[in-house]
Amino acid sequence: MTTDTPLLSSGGRVYLVGAGPGDPELLTLRAVRVLQKADVVVYDNLVSPGVLDFVPATSERIYAGKRRNEHTLRQEQINSLLVKLAREGKQVVRLKGGDPFIFGRGGEELQTMAAAGVTFEVVPGITAASGVSCYAGIPLTHRSYAQRCLFVTGHLKDGTADLDWPSLVRLNQTVVIYMGLNGLPDICRQLVAHGASPDLPIAVVQDGSLPTQKVVTGTLSNMAEKVARAGLESPCLTIIGDVVRLHGELAWFQTGMPALAP
Ligand code: SAH
Repeated sequence: MTTDTPLLSSGGRVYLVGAGPGDPELLTLRAVRVLQKADVVVYDNLVSPGVLDFVPATSERIYAGKRRNEHTLRQEQINSLLVKLAREGKQVVRLKGGDPFIFGRGGEELQTMAAAGVTFEVVPGITAASGVSCYAGIPLTHRSYAQRCLFVTGHLKDGTADLDWPSLVRLNQTVVIYMGLNGLPDICRQLVAHGASPDLPIAVVQDGSLPTQKVVTGTLSNMAEKVARAGLESPCLTIIGDVVRLHGELAWFQTGMPALAP
């Protein structure tokens, strides 16, 4: 084990750290070690309170926000804040939900650090597709159902999801949609319009890996109504494909099965 590796902390530096999907047990060892040495942590809305428990009480915490339509700090403000803090000689942790290089704008933030000559390190995290599907008991690939998996964002542009529909309706693949809750009715309609079966299984998982996790399953034809009836709220991850059929058999989280104590 190399747990005593020093953090190479001479001078200010930005650590772009993935916080995983929510359950703090899913943090990497590196993330925990970096969090414990942070002078200041700039965190997003998706970072769960349990993860922030690893930040020392004496460290400064800055909420950067970013809920839909409610950007507490604009991206440029976040970027210049990180540069400023690092130039003050601080160990700055930029903490983001999931993995910082998957739909997290982490790359953009690091481009600013590189341009400003700020030293940085990236700590990967468990991305929602991986963490949430595991906690929902939905394997993303399976020899009988899917040999390919796509990650796409369902973020709406001008009120509609602007996706490459033909690539999403191929057989034997799983499609994982990040940020797709608001566009869900449109997404389901478009997939069927582009040739997907109305009976194709789909799952929407709210708060994956957290005690508040909810899994709703259905088909492309009935999912919009089911999700509305269940009152699901962000963050939600959508998984589309025949692998969703396995949820009934493989759900393990919150099912009352005896678990290994933490
Ligand atoms: N960088 C993050 C993704 C940021 S985009 C990652 O790698 O996971 C934000 C989207 O991620 C949310 O809209 C939702 O679709 C998904 N997401 C993140 N955490 C989630 C969770 N615990 N449960 C369900 N969806 C989640």
